[in-house]
Amino acid sequence: MQKYSESLRLQGKKIAFVPTMGYLHEGHLSLMRKGRSRGDCLAISIYVNPTQFGPGEDLDKYPRDFEGDEKLAEELGCDVIFYPTNQEMYPENYHTYVNVEKITENLCGLSRPEHFRGVATVCAKLFNIVKPHAAIFGKKDFQQLAVIKRMVKDLNMDLEIIGMPTVREPDGLAMSSRNSYLKGDERESALSLSRSLKRAEEMYENGERNAGRIIKEVRRCINDHSHTRIDYVKICDTETMEDSEYLDSESVLALAVWVGSPRLIDNHVFGEHLNI
Ligand code: AMP
Repeated sequence: MQKYSESLRLQGKKIAFVPTMGYLHEGHLSLMRKGRSRGDCLAISIYVNPTQFGPGEDLDKYPRDFEGDEKLAEELGCDVIFYPTNQEMYPENYHTYVNVEKITENLCGLSRPEHFRGVATVCAKLFNIVKPHAAIFGKKDFQQLAVIKRMVKDLNMDLEIIGMPTVREPDGLAMSSRNSYLKGDERESALSLSRSLKRAEEMYENGERNAGRIIKEVRRCINDHSHTRIDYVKICDTETMEDSEYLDSESVLALAVWVGSPRLIDNHVFGEHLNI
């Protein structure tokens, strides 16, 4: 992969890169389309990265369908799929990790303490392997995008990070490979996430700026649905990821909720268009 990328670079070609864990859906495809328009070469990676999963999480049962993914990637005009093994990514005596501080301490960092260390490490490795000029990430994983931007800036990595809007099902559910875990009426309960974001945006549009009052209403809305168990509902500064007491133009509402077995996440930046 490095040799291939280097030869493209020597020809003056631009490489756009979309890292994924596979089981591709329309959310991934939207990033790939963006990449297609931004580079002469569109590279994607499909790798379920073990270092970003904690003990007891869904690493082993994470959905996989390489053949289906390959077909979608080909149809979209993807030039190369980087599809490494664990042995190649983390051989014996692997000991180097990237730790982005501060912004990883809140939200998903609270319930998944090793998660962002794994994400930052694998992305740093993938950037060194694929050598992209631009990498495209989804805003659905809002904190992840902030972590990657921070890492790239702090470590002077020479690539552009592009964030893309969350792609949703027609009824508002944010697309996710983990939606495939939802059984029976859990699918309906999963709508509590997007519905509560909508409710929060309505409160904001009606002038509410008190974070505590919005969070209370969001929690009520989620708890109204069966099969839901809230991990967190928080309103934070979009850059520092610190909790906000009062909303300004840079505030994000972020949620993580177990719906049956999967833990789903969603978010909304107040004042931005919400396509629900
Ligand atoms: P994953 O395969 O879940 O690791 O996701 C790979 C990339 O796709 C990440 O940058 C995600 O933020 C992005 N992504 C996942 N779901 C969506 C979605 N519904 N809309 C937009 N981007 C998404």
